[in-house]
Amino acid sequence: MMKYVIGGNWKMKRGIQDSIDVAKEMVNELEKYDNIEIFIAPSYTSLRDLAKIFEGTNIKLAAQNMHEKDKGSYTGEISPVWLKDCGCEYVILGHSERRRVYNESSERINEKVLKALEIGLKPVLCVGESAEERNNGQAEEINGTQLEVSLKEVSSEQIQNFVIAYEPVWAINSRALNPVGEIRAATRKEAEEMHNFIRNWLVNQYGDEIGNSIPLQYGGSVDKDNCKKFFTVDNINGGLVGTASIKATDFEPIVGTASELMK
Ligand code: PEP
Repeated sequence: MMKYVIGGNWKMKRGIQDSIDVAKEMVNELEKYDNIEIFIAPSYTSLRDLAKIFEGTNIKLAAQNMHEKDKGSYTGEISPVWLKDCGCEYVILGHSERRRVYNESSERINEKVLKALEIGLKPVLCVGESAEERNNGQAEEINGTQLEVSLKEVSSEQIQNFVIAYEPVWAINSRALNPVGEIRAATRKEAEEMHNFIRNWLVNQYGDEIGNSIPLQYGGSVDKDNCKKFFTVDNINGGLVGTASIKATDFEPIVGTASELMK
């Protein structure tokens, strides 16, 4: 059975002291789950502090984004080289908030993906369709195109460093993405269908053995009450968690559920 990968994306929700406090709680709460791959993506300003707190523990450090160049005149951007220097092992790329709010194209995400691989950061590549795209029957087409363009020129060897996160935009608990109306997690069936599609896409592209070995995370309003529903789907190998990752007491039961399922 593939090891579950559970990631926490803290977005712009935890300040410097807050991050230190929560990270210490996470270390205490999660140290017993050594059968799960865990990463936390705090704000850039907390990376150095959290690298020290997570050192020697089972929690890996992730960045929420990066620039596609090493350095240069890019005001307000962050160098992937320095993220690596800060101790990041993973980098989230193509999150819907980057794609849809900051207009990052899949072509640009592909440049970031290739640079992350060059630097030695493991990409957590996010894909997902909007409600409108789903209602128009375009969900597979959108996810397929995002995969195809974002993974252009990624070799069979390189793809083995990836985590792919399926995050339907309409399911993400984000008012930046879903300004009005109800936000709900996907049903088991909705998640299962799209995860099967992504798995098949990877198998077609990279062959059986490699395609089946890449962890697929579901993301979108995952919490302690619904995570088992997702983690028991064949092609769901973990979760990318936003809201329920910013408190140790919310995140721990999610990791704990995955850990139990590994036994
Ligand atoms: C996310 O933004 O990646 C996410 C899944 O958020 P939430 O868990 O809050 O829906």
